[in-house]
Amino acid sequence: MAISRILIANRGEIALRIHRAAHEMGIETVAVHSTADADAMHVRLADHAVCIGPPPATDSYLNVANIISAAEIAGADAIHPGYGFLSENAKFAEIVEAHDIVWIGPKPEHIRTMGDKVQAKKTAGALGLPLVPGSDGAVSDVEEAKKIAAEIGYPVIIKAASGGGGRGMKVCEAEDKLETLMKQAGSEAKAAFGDATVYIEKYLGNPRHIEFQVFGDGRGGAIHLGERDCSLQRRHQKVLEEAPSPVISDEERAQMGEVCSKAMRDMAYRGAGTIEFLWENGEFYFIEMNTRLQVEHPVTEAITGMDLVREQIRIADGKDLSCTQDQIEFKGHAIECRINAEDPFTFAPSPGKVTHYHPAGGMHVRVDSGLYAGYSIPPYYDSMIAKLIVYGRSREKCIMRLKRALEEMVIEGVNHSVPLHEELLQQPDVLSGDYSIKWLEEWLKERE
Ligand code: ADP
Repeated sequence: MAISRILIANRGEIALRIHRAAHEMGIETVAVHSTADADAMHVRLADHAVCIGPPPATDSYLNVANIISAAEIAGADAIHPGYGFLSENAKFAEIVEAHDIVWIGPKPEHIRTMGDKVQAKKTAGALGLPLVPGSDGAVSDVEEAKKIAAEIGYPVIIKAASGGGGRGMKVCEAEDKLETLMKQAGSEAKAAFGDATVYIEKYLGNPRHIEFQVFGDGRGGAIHLGERDCSLQRRHQKVLEEAPSPVISDEERAQMGEVCSKAMRDMAYRGAGTIEFLWENGEFYFIEMNTRLQVEHPVTEAITGMDLVREQIRIADGKDLSCTQDQIEFKGHAIECRINAEDPFTFAPSPGKVTHYHPAGGMHVRVDSGLYAGYSIPPYYDSMIAKLIVYGRSREKCIMRLKRALEEMVIEGVNHSVPLHEELLQQPDVLSGDYSIKWLEEWLKERE
């Protein structure tokens, strides 16, 4: 069966990203949008557009019935969920498939397993991935939690089984705080995710966040596309990502990449996935798997030359992976800066009208964004308004080009993160690649 019309169940830059891949494959697109997004770029570019509800995401971008109706009305034969919203909702994937619409994503059962972090860790362990030491599964009893924490040693981190986006995590330094923090984590998780289940992990002192991009054909074939280093984070949210990681050798990449792709072959995983690890002193520790496209996927595209959305569509269409592991070559270096509509240093949100917009250009510079002059950034959704992705033959050349590209970016009318990235790229630790997941917050504190 050949996909001929894809409904894009998302908004912003990722909706555009999917539209572009589809059109380059000769496939039509259907945009869905809330009333707040009637003027959005993805709506303007798509071949068809359907309004699916009022501004709040629960009434529009998360409104399953309206999205399915839109697909039927517009004659879409496939749905791409992008990231966020319904992308990791196994029930939605099942409903899409039950309507004989192609789901451009992993098998629903794999989304479900990996979406529950307790299950995900068990599965990853059984597949041979190295784990962060911690509880064997969910923990509800405080005495049991105390025993586990004493065994692995403080500090520990209490995490929500249904957590995501860096929410529902509590670091516990000592036993006398464990009970209170467990209760807090549980009730926060209940409020945010409707599930109070928590588990416990060793809190690693100064790790890096390193993740592997994988692709499976759903029939036992799988490849990896190397790693991304996403250690520059604020409140567990990624700010700048790069590929390859400054600390991973070719041998380590090949070895860990094979561990990841073997795990995917054993599961008969389908589509794009990211296996996230913390890395400390040369050791990898699995933390979670994301069963979707990641925000930072373009850095992998830059160093492999592969179009990851095209690959997702091909696999959903039942085709084989477009290449074998041997055919994948990692070349040069790429960095992505996430640009948010917020104050660059206080991070106060800054939605509103963009009066002037001029994206950076030139060789090996890519800007993924739905911005245009006159566009009003609505206050209802994620604050990310653009991604600047730059490639260079070496990390040094990539950084020089990135500095040049940041100079060129013009976004007026709202506050945004470009000044933060410009300052980051002057820091010796960033230039040398010597940073951990704690670096950015510590630097921000000192800067105050
Ligand atoms: P989420 O799904 O909410 O993003 P993750 O499990 O991926 O949660 O963790 C997000 C971030 O939280 C990691 O990138 C890291 O910065 C921090 N983190 C998670 N687990 C640990 C741990 N065991 N030790 C130290 N930091 C951790």
